[in-house]
Amino acid sequence: MTNIQQILDKPNVAVITGGASGIGLAAAKRFAKAGMSVVIADLGGDRLAAARGELEAVAGTQRVMAVETDVSDRSSLETLEKSVVQRFGRVHVLMNNAGIGPETSIFSAQADWDSILGVNLLGVINGTRVFGPNMLAHGEPGLIINTGSKQGITTPPGNPAYNVSKAGVKVFTEALEHELRNREGSKMSAHLLIPGFVFTGLTKGDRTEKPAAAWTPEQTVDFMIESLKRGDFYILCPDNDVARQVDERRMAWAIGDIIENRPPLSRWHKDYADRFKAFLEEKR
Ligand code: NAD
Repeated sequence: MTNIQQILDKPNVAVITGGASGIGLAAAKRFAKAGMSVVIADLGGDRLAAARGELEAVAGTQRVMAVETDVSDRSSLETLEKSVVQRFGRVHVLMNNAGIGPETSIFSAQADWDSILGVNLLGVINGTRVFGPNMLAHGEPGLIINTGSKQGITTPPGNPAYNVSKAGVKVFTEALEHELRNREGSKMSAHLLIPGFVFTGLTKGDRTEKPAAAWTPEQTVDFMIESLKRGDFYILCPDNDVARQVDERRMAWAIGDIIENRPPLSRWHKDYADRFKAFLEEKR
């Protein structure tokens, strides 16, 4: 039986950062519906209060906790961990999911680089390092799900700080899984959630209606749960525009830059446009 099945079968505890909106809130609802106690950790304010209300409507007040947390600040994560352990005793699912995506360029404001790396990358690293030791020590099955991005794998031009942060999440989570599976007595596993295009606070902009290409947060979470049930580490989500096969070709081309000694990001290099197009259309 996979970890997720054993965890969902009992009234266990899930902590979700960035849990007041989008993918995180959908995951919190899904875990709450399964009977788990859920803790959403997010920046405070109305959004967190509203999300708590939505969760309480699903699960009642006893199984829901909302904690104002800034994941870019390690001491805020430590306070969160202490208060969760105090209230619920043990944590079984940690979803390091909080993320931001302000536009950056290589030489744009220092503050943008600092905040993206602080939230998206250090938030994941420190979330794991703060919660991990007690999750391992209690000895029950546990999961750490870190939300990465395709942008951390194929690293398209446009937002280098975001790409760097998500590439770091991928590398960290791979190392984490290696550590967990080789630790004596560990019943924990790590998983990298790689969403496609999902209609959330991050991608909405001025739009009020979901574009046809995007998935909903709920679809993404359904896909995540099915993947976890299979025991997948890489939870590579499609969307309504991009099928898994297209992602596979894009990723193969990206690693091919090194193997074939092409320039980096050759997918967006004018001299390689035709070759990339032909590669995409090649049968595998
Ligand atoms: P969202 O904006 O709806 O949710 C992100 C949440 O993170 C928000 O509630 C926000 O308040 C919270 N947050 C931001 N900074 C924080 C901080 N310092 N401390 C605590 N919480 C903080 O967006 P979403 O799309 O649901 O994002 C969830 C994750 O999915 C992110 O890591 C994002 O990078 C990733 N992702 C999203 C997409 C997509 O298409 N939406 C694609 C790939 C990856």
